[in-house]
Amino acid sequence: MSTSGARVAALDIGATKLAAGLVDRDGAVTRFTVRPTPAGEGVDAAAVRDAVVALLDEVVGGGDEDVVAVACAGPVDAATGTVSPVNIPAWRDFPLVRALERWRPTARVVLHNDVLPLAVAEHRLGAGRGAQALLGLVISTGIGGGLVLAGEPVPGPTGNAGHIGHVPVELDGPRCQCGGRGCVETYASGPSMLAHARQQGWRGADVPELMAAARAGEPVAVATIERAADALAAGILAAAVLCDLDRVVVGGGVAQAGDVVLAPLRRAYHRRAGLEFARRLEIVPAALGPHAGVIGAAALAR
Ligand SMILES: [Zn+2]
Repeated sequence: MSTSGARVAALDIGATKLAAGLVDRDGAVTRFTVRPTPAGEGVDAAAVRDAVVALLDEVVGGGDEDVVAVACAGPVDAATGTVSPVNIPAWRDFPLVRALERWRPTARVVLHNDVLPLAVAEHRLGAGRGAQALLGLVISTGIGGGLVLAGEPVPGPTGNAGHIGHVPVELDGPRCQCGGRGCVETYASGPSMLAHARQQGWRGADVPELMAAARAGEPVAVATIERAADALAAGILAAAVLCDLDRVVVGGGVAQAGDVVLAPLRRAYHRRAGLEFARRLEIVPAALGPHAGVIGAAALAR
């Protein structure tokens, strides 16, 4: 079946937010809604599923989609259609594709990790245009990535290629929720930064406040972001050397803080990168805003 002209309902499932949109054949988002992802005590797999389905119902109404395109926080298993997002603990081996097939039995469901769609959308329409080897990077509750190499999205056999949050940057570093140690995510995700700043005596409430404090020059906030930027830079350098990257497009809630994160990240990267080919890498902010995930998921599904 050709799906190039199909009506596509697209979902972007993150640990912080759920987004759903209707994407037409030209890639334009005609409807779009965002809700917080259910989290905390008592939230089980069904509760998260119900929130996703309710959001889809709200966005598509009584529509008749041919394709449901899904970007989901990783890891995902594209072969079995199950997901186990590190930062959505209610879902472990959750059969997301089956749940969506039940919601819309006539539709084809296409599943990718959440950052590959962002990378694809930014590469086609946004801050990644013209890049030959692109890493899309999201800094939020978790840290995810997606690769577009030689103009083509690279999902990998299980759909998890580019999962940079779980690249280890310290051999005996802190335990990560993934089971590993010293992962980028244990330094540079929003919750990791908050935890570190609090350990150092900072008393603020949340990540936006931490960013504002850093912008105002508060020393613990500045040092926390520099530590996170250094871990991210080490992870990006690993990816740049392995994949000969020429651009990183950074999106996600934490990255929305802008240069208070991006400037230390660029400095840390250039302090670490020695090889000429790795030093040509540009680190730029995402340009497409909150629609990027659904635009990219729809593009991948077509
Ligand atoms: Zn990890």
